[in-house]
Amino acid sequence: MEKALVTGGAGFIGSHVVDALIDKGLEVVVVDDLSSGSINNVNGQEIDLYNEDITNSDLWRIFRKHKPDYVFHLAAQINVRESIKDPIEDARTNILGSLNVLKCSAEFGVKKFVFSSTGGAIYGEASKLPTSERQKADPESPYGISKQTTEKHLWFYKKNKGLDSVALRYGNVYGPRQNSKGEAGVISIFANNILCGKDSRINGDGEQTRDYVYVKDVADANLLAMELSGVYNVGTGIETSVNEVFRKIIDLSENNAFSSHEPAIKGEVKRSCLDSRKLVGKGWKTQYNLDRGLKETIDYFRSE
Ligand code: NAD
Repeated sequence: MEKALVTGGAGFIGSHVVDALIDKGLEVVVVDDLSSGSINNVNGQEIDLYNEDITNSDLWRIFRKHKPDYVFHLAAQINVRESIKDPIEDARTNILGSLNVLKCSAEFGVKKFVFSSTGGAIYGEASKLPTSERQKADPESPYGISKQTTEKHLWFYKKNKGLDSVALRYGNVYGPRQNSKGEAGVISIFANNILCGKDSRINGDGEQTRDYVYVKDVADANLLAMELSGVYNVGTGIETSVNEVFRKIIDLSENNAFSSHEPAIKGEVKRSCLDSRKLVGKGWKTQYNLDRGLKETIDYFRSE
């Protein structure tokens, strides 16, 4: 039986990748320090879960014990605003932690290293939308810089240590199990607020756009990536404004709630939308449009 090690596997996207890998028949090991993830996300799954920081040198022992064929690297500091406040802490997890996972992967002969990168923060304010992988990376936040740096290390490890890898540049991922606290995902925050009858705060005028991609489609992209190499965008090619998302959740949930506007956040781009034709050309097909994904997400938060 082939083995996969998933860092950040108790998190939002990571836990869906774990589900998909188990469905495919792989044995799964998760490394997660549970800083934002939760055991509840992987409850009931037959996995080995290590509550461990990816920057820890003990990671080596986990690799030695399990010798994974595939590594899915999702563990990260994911908050753009936190990265602006504290670039060193962001770099600790997102650059040094990633290097530790890469080093172990190369040492133990991993067949494929699948890295969760960002399409929303790596291109900066892109001159062309939808933005393809050919567009130069020009991140505006330490979070985007860390992701770009790790992509460069993937290239270094491939060239110098023979470690084959894929970087998946996600749009704004949403769906069940996304944390609805803090600044995480705007859809989970709005859905949770609207279902609880609480008002929501929108940063800026709310006309900023994002490419919202459903988490199960992202998990499918991770599985497909086991056969690929290089860099791929993972998005829908459709721009939706924050105001529109808010209105859609109100309509679909048949609840009512209000929003107020806060000052725009520095370092966040105004428009973002990804051209994913390269991945579609390899067989990736989104199963969820925004309405279908939002309905499943609202149902999840209602049941919570
Ligand atoms: P998440 O916070 O739910 O998942 C991250 C997981 O990593 C959590 O379970 C957390 O406990 C774990 N973690 C954090 N620091 C760690 C450390 N030092 N050691 C071990 N575990 C650690 O976030 P997510 O949205 O599921 O993001 C998963 C990946 O996808 C991240 O790499 C993120 O940058 C990337 N990504 C997410 C989005 C999105 O829209 N959610 C978009 C682009 C890229």
